[in-house]
Amino acid sequence: MRQVHSFAAGAWVPPRSGARSIASAITGDIIAEAGNDALDVQGMRAYARDVGGPALRGMTFHGRARMLKALALHLREHRQALYDLSFDTGATQADHLIDVDGGIGTMLVFASKGRREMPDAQVYLDGAPEQLGRAGQFHGQHICTPLQGVALHINAFNFPVWGMLEKVAPTLLAGVPAIVKPATATSYVTEACVRLMIESGYLPDGALQLVSGGVGDLLDHLDCQDVVTFTGSADTARTLRGNVNLLNNAVRFTAEQDSLNASVLGPDAEPGMPEFDLFVKEVQREMTAKAGQKCTAIRRIMVPEAQVDAVIEAIGARLENVTIGDPRAESTKMGALVSNNQKVDVLEKAIQIGTEAEHVFGDPENFSMADSKGAFLPPMLFHCADPDNARAVHDVEAFGPVSTVMPYRNLSHAADLLNRGKGSLVASIITRDGDVARQITMASAAFHGRLYFNNRDSMSEATGHGAPLPHMVHGGPGRAGGGEELGGIRAVKHYMQRTAVQGSPDILTAIGQRWLPGAAEATDKPHPFTRPFGDLVIGDTFNSASREVTLEDIETFAHFTGDTFYAHMDDAAAKANPFFPGRVAHGYLLLSFAAGLFVQPDPGPVLANTGLDNLRFMKPVEAGDSIKVRLTVKAKTPRNDAYGEVRWHVTLTNRDDEAVAEYELLTMNAH
Ligand code: NAP
Repeated sequence: MRQVHSFAAGAWVPPRSGARSIASAITGDIIAEAGNDALDVQGMRAYARDVGGPALRGMTFHGRARMLKALALHLREHRQALYDLSFDTGATQADHLIDVDGGIGTMLVFASKGRREMPDAQVYLDGAPEQLGRAGQFHGQHICTPLQGVALHINAFNFPVWGMLEKVAPTLLAGVPAIVKPATATSYVTEACVRLMIESGYLPDGALQLVSGGVGDLLDHLDCQDVVTFTGSADTARTLRGNVNLLNNAVRFTAEQDSLNASVLGPDAEPGMPEFDLFVKEVQREMTAKAGQKCTAIRRIMVPEAQVDAVIEAIGARLENVTIGDPRAESTKMGALVSNNQKVDVLEKAIQIGTEAEHVFGDPENFSMADSKGAFLPPMLFHCADPDNARAVHDVEAFGPVSTVMPYRNLSHAADLLNRGKGSLVASIITRDGDVARQITMASAAFHGRLYFNNRDSMSEATGHGAPLPHMVHGGPGRAGGGEELGGIRAVKHYMQRTAVQGSPDILTAIGQRWLPGAAEATDKPHPFTRPFGDLVIGDTFNSASREVTLEDIETFAHFTGDTFYAHMDDAAAKANPFFPGRVAHGYLLLSFAAGLFVQPDPGPVLANTGLDNLRFMKPVEAGDSIKVRLTVKAKTPRNDAYGEVRWHVTLTNRDDEAVAEYELLTMNAH
């Protein structure tokens, strides 16, 4: 029998008193045990705070992102071991791709976003600075810094790898240590994954710990620097959410719980159209992937009244072809539920749904695996003819291959039915009609964490109704838990404190490592284009000579580029325009002259100009005026071993020192 260990304060701790048995989903035989009442959970918390936290906070966002990438690649190399173990959870090889590869892929996305969208620093700037004083000597900036406690992740049984990695990746990227508590039923897979991560040597001590079994009194001692994220049933969420210590200390608590997700066949989609087939295919896939044990699975199927029979027939035909059996067999399309307890629970819920809906497909007493001791069930389809007067079909989540077809009269009725779930993770709408999409969005988006539209144009690339993506927010209001995770860098911020920092430009520049206008400028060094990336310091400034802009320059530029807009060519017409005093220079002419004024022409560390951001033309320049440029190192971001990106603050001023244009120039500079 497999002993599922915890990993506490740097040591593996075996199961002892209070351990629970874990059965194979395929055979029903006991294969493992997990849990230890004597586990020192308070010691784990202290270890995370005192050892893991400081080590992680000592790294930059880029350092942590590189660590995530190394961890993910290590897991990818060893994923076969995770596949092999996961079969006993009832999952097929296709299910492993969602759980194991999906988890690794999610980690890689955070690794990449961490390096592309976060600084190589320890403070994250949240949004642009706000000028709070008239003269520009007092500003505000929102910053995010890592919480100094621990993130406790309590996870559901259905995704033992993805469920952990999708939370651990943003936690570690933020600089916060994690204690993971997987659901006991599949904890042996999570344990194997944690072992791989620990053994890789990429994680600092205390960054990741594992509780196999119960969490003891851990929740009773957490404080404002800690975070609890929960994924599981609404009942457990309610219990945990009500913990007095969490309430007293305003401990952050996020819940991702069950929900009655739905899919709508648009009124424009009829049998014979690609959208109709697409709808049926998505429904069948969502009912049978992971044997329906997906938090995002389609539980309610909404179709125009006229299409009900055709939809039931088409879904039934597809379900007929789903081979159920031992998930190790290649021919198996749907494996088992995680346990016989789960099977009993699903059957009970199906009976409740059956009081309001006709059972139209799948007989649990009579299907290919009916005699197995494992937790097998057939897909079960119901038809609820009167969804307005039904309650269970909108409220009872049978966490298995169970779904209910229901008719809708018109779009607003479809939206009403969608919203009867009282908050869900995802709703999908299969339509090619933009008006349908807009109307459903206005009527329903507030009830759903994600809206997924698909049709013949997007179907070859669409990622599927049920797939939460690291780039997009996952979570939903109300019944879905009211939480939010993933969604790119948003997820990382859940483990950081946002603080409004106010002060002078020098103070804010020092904190954020991003130069603010008004902060100190160093002008006594050689031209910044002659110095390698590493030598440039934030605030280094180059002031150019000035150059006159003549009427001839304007005309030459106009004819050379073809931009003979009247404001540059016709004095009377320009004067009639509220923005111009008369003929003025092209903005792009000014930018080109600016480049000529600040450039250092010889080959050197500047490898390429990769773009400019936030360009503003603030004042027109007339012929006879002159311009000069100030170029200041605003921020630096290493890209690889060869070069890094320099963001320059560029200001063009006229003869009277008034700003005429401002922008941020981006260059790649060799180390
Ligand atoms: P569950 O029974 O609520 O358990 C979830 C987690 O909570 C498990 O790790 C469980 O540990 C733990 N737990 C239970 N009681 C606890 C307590 N008193 N203190 C601390 N931890 C406690 O849910 P499940 O059966 O594993 O998962 C199925 C449900 O999860 C479904 O309803 C599904 O919709 C939902 N789900 C939602 C999402 C989402 O992202 N929204 C994702 C996946 C699943 P033990 O296993 O040791 O009891």
